[in-house]
Amino acid sequence: MSRRVKGKMMVFLGIGWLLLLGACGVPSLSPTPVPVDITPEPILTVDSPVAQSPTPDPYLTQRLAMVEKTIVARGVTDPDVLRAMRTVPRHLFVPERYRDRAYGDHPLPIGYGQTISQPYIVAWMTELLELQPGDKVLEIGTGSGYQAAVLAEIGYVEVYTIEIIPELAAQAAERLRRLGYTQVRVRQGDGYYGWPEAAPFDVIIVTAAPDHLPQPLVQQLKDGGRIVIPIGPPGGYQTLWKFVKEGDKVKGYNLGAVRFVPLTGPGVERGRAVSTPER
Ligand code: SAM
Repeated sequence: MSRRVKGKMMVFLGIGWLLLLGACGVPSLSPTPVPVDITPEPILTVDSPVAQSPTPDPYLTQRLAMVEKTIVARGVTDPDVLRAMRTVPRHLFVPERYRDRAYGDHPLPIGYGQTISQPYIVAWMTELLELQPGDKVLEIGTGSGYQAAVLAEIGYVEVYTIEIIPELAAQAAERLRRLGYTQVRVRQGDGYYGWPEAAPFDVIIVTAAPDHLPQPLVQQLKDGGRIVIPIGPPGGYQTLWKFVKEGDKVKGYNLGAVRFVPLTGPGVERGRAVSTPER
């Protein structure tokens, strides 16, 4: 059976699962966020969990059209990225009332003042990571878990993801588990500090914008590793950067203007204080 046909079959199950999310336990917000690993016991899967569902996917046609019109047409060519974008059911990562808009090329609200990113940006940033088999990938800003699912759907990388808002972290962990992306490790905490126990990483992707490059993330990158990150002031446009670590140097490539929600939390505040000398 082709992946595409298999992909068709999964998603009704997922809809049922999503309805259960309201019942998730939610960790409370503590004044000093302490990282909490909320991933169920990881199980490495070989094939796409979503592509194995026996249930037809009512949004498959919309999803395939979205990939062609807004992702392929704008120059994303990596076949693994395109396969992942064609497979992951974005409509199951948005609140139910936005489900019919899930395959438009725009961000959507996911609660707590946050958004799921525009599909084209997800695909483009994933392509920029130049993922290689066996890469260990850290995402900062889990949000709905969609970007993490796309990374997991690539099939040959290990995915770690950190979300600062406890409710979103808990919901995303549960959603990823129920959709079968059990190999994704989810943590609630301040992603500015990375995930030191799991470092070093081959690749780091940041999906909220700080106003400077977080040094802990650079330190947790392997030699030859890549970071894709929006940097700039909150509330306006930022610049998407790709940094490549070469020994003790970091080479940066400016990829143009983007718009992201700000990276929040004590880390970015402290990092700014350290990097801005007193006058
Ligand atoms: N990647 C997400 C997805 O696929 O749904 C969308 C990310 S949303 C644009 C940015 C996310 O970053 C928000 O959920 C926000 O709470 C989170 N965030 C902001 N500051 C953070 C921090 N210091 N550490 C971890 N997550 C953070």
